[in-house]
Amino acid sequence: MTSFAKDLLAWFQEHGRKGLPWQSSPPDIYHVWLSEIMLQQTQVNTVIDYFNNFIINFPSVVELANADEEEVLTSWAGLGYYSRARNLHKSAKIILSEYQGIFPTSYSELITLPGVGESTAGAILSLACNQPRAILDGNVKRALSRYHRVAGYYSDSKTLKELWRLAKYHTPSEQNADYAQAIMDLGATICVHRNPLCSRCPVSRHCKANLCNDQSSFPQKKIRTIRPEKSLAFLVYRNIKGHIYLAKRPNRGIWSGLWSFSECEDNETAISAAIKEHNLEASIVSLLPKFKHSFTHYHLWIRPIIINSPGLEKDYHNINKLGLGVPAPVKKIISMLDSLNPAESNE
Ligand code: SF4
Repeated sequence: MTSFAKDLLAWFQEHGRKGLPWQSSPPDIYHVWLSEIMLQQTQVNTVIDYFNNFIINFPSVVELANADEEEVLTSWAGLGYYSRARNLHKSAKIILSEYQGIFPTSYSELITLPGVGESTAGAILSLACNQPRAILDGNVKRALSRYHRVAGYYSDSKTLKELWRLAKYHTPSEQNADYAQAIMDLGATICVHRNPLCSRCPVSRHCKANLCNDQSSFPQKKIRTIRPEKSLAFLVYRNIKGHIYLAKRPNRGIWSGLWSFSECEDNETAISAAIKEHNLEASIVSLLPKFKHSFTHYHLWIRPIIINSPGLEKDYHNINKLGLGVPAPVKKIISMLDSLNPAESNE
């Protein structure tokens, strides 16, 4: 066992994160898989409530496989990166049809499931099955690149290859569940992005970046490109009962398959044309404050416009009994709407 792994394991016994809802004894691979997918783009504190809610709604992989995609997206709504939810659902169906509902525990089978990459497969098998598999998520990349002073961008295949080599080199042949959790905890809680806590780090003695005092040079930073900004008006049609109009978005593009308001370019001509097209009798009643929602590649400015409309009941929904998967900005507008005029939406 390398000294890195030994020091990390000793530290983990006292300082590692324990008692997270997906850490049971013995581990439940369904829970571990679910948490790893949720944690791919999201921090532990945010994931906990979503995870608890998800397993109430879908207690097993078979129940997840038999659910409607709409139900799955509704449970996921607010976590973002919705392709993860769709991949979970697809994977559950594969596990039910090809593995009789029993979660595969071999690397070659696991890696074929949608949304499961090399590092996620490694994490699942280490954490749930104690198999000696390497992990290389963002936190581990950062810790290893500092510990070994690995130069280069993560997007360069040469750098990535070297980090995988090191991740495999340090992976011990025993105590793999603990080691996997420990190395992820190291990156998430000690070797953090800004101001790593080297004085409390269990591997600081041999960490090259710490010895050279150039921790902040690793990982090598790319020059940040400025994200472009776009603007949209969200047309929040409300009927006399206070119910709101929502339409299901197409299965491609942003928020695919989720429910959202009508939208158009944020200018007067486009807004009045869109309102007329929806219903000639509709009229603007108020403008809510504009807000920014950021995606990886751009910022979206959203202007919510509240419009009274004598609309068709079938397309209008009671905001207190929604039960639909809606993206985060729609959720935000609904809560603004609720506080704006709670009495009207209670029917
Ligand atoms: S000593 Fe500092 S830089 Fe090195 S691994 Fe630990 S926290 Fe990261």
